[in-house]
Amino acid sequence: MVVGSVAYSAGMTLAEERAIIGALSPSRAGDFMTCPLLYRFRVIDQLPERPSPAAVRGTLVHAVLERLYDLPAEARTTAAAQDLLEPQWERLLTDEPEYAGLFETDEERAQWLAQARTMVERYFTLEDPRLLEPAEREMYVETVLESGLLLRGYIDRLDVAPTGEIRVVDYKTGTAPRRDFEAKALFQMKFYALALWRLNGTVPRMLQLMYLGNGEILRYTPDEADLRATERKVQALWEAIERAVRTKEWRHRPSRLCDWCDHQALCPEFGGTPPPVPDHRPGTSSRGRGRPRSATDEL
Ligand code: SF4
Repeated sequence: MVVGSVAYSAGMTLAEERAIIGALSPSRAGDFMTCPLLYRFRVIDQLPERPSPAAVRGTLVHAVLERLYDLPAEARTTAAAQDLLEPQWERLLTDEPEYAGLFETDEERAQWLAQARTMVERYFTLEDPRLLEPAEREMYVETVLESGLLLRGYIDRLDVAPTGEIRVVDYKTGTAPRRDFEAKALFQMKFYALALWRLNGTVPRMLQLMYLGNGEILRYTPDEADLRATERKVQALWEAIERAVRTKEWRHRPSRLCDWCDHQALCPEFGGTPPPVPDHRPGTSSRGRGRPRSATDEL
């Protein structure tokens, strides 16, 4: 069963390309909802951000869980997953040499790696990978809504039952949200479900967030009404972004996430002044260079 395909590609006609009004991923949509100024710094100004130990730990744990499923089912043990940690870390260091500067001492690095080890171990308390055969891992999806808005993102794992029912799985290395923040956490999953539904006409049976920071699972069963509501929300969000682009008004919205923000020096909340808005619109280009992961993605 084909569960995903690329709806937008280099081979598109100019007319089709023109129909695309913009592009949004769950992470960037989340940025705008969290703080419009943060969205501006990341998408419009494209300011560089320092990799954080939390974000890189998330990347490492995701890589280990992705590679774990390369092994034959019976070999997917806790020990085998732990054995993947060092080689995956070495691979990440080769790809991104700047990660070497994340730690000042060997002890710091060892502690960080031990935390990643604990998260990988905790994964095995939530499910038994020997009993699973994912249909997709780190799956890139994109689709264009009727409005012309392109939705895109990476799904950590997709399971497809023999009945054809789809389960969308996302790993988080943070802890599960309090009940009143669950809707925010589920927005990303509904976004993916909407993209899959628009691509294939099938509403995923289950959305599953696995929190490896404290060993909890958040599950949700979406229906068509949910996904229509998500589409309206995404559309309204895009209109708000377009308005901010037009008016050049990017409000800052302080929250506890400011603790993880790299741009405090330019933020009025911290006495800074944002630079003039560059003449750059949110892009509509297809795949970026791999999957960006920020510390806030792990929450
Ligand atoms: S410091 Fe806080 S308010 Fe300022 S841009 Fe970052 S997230 Fe927004």
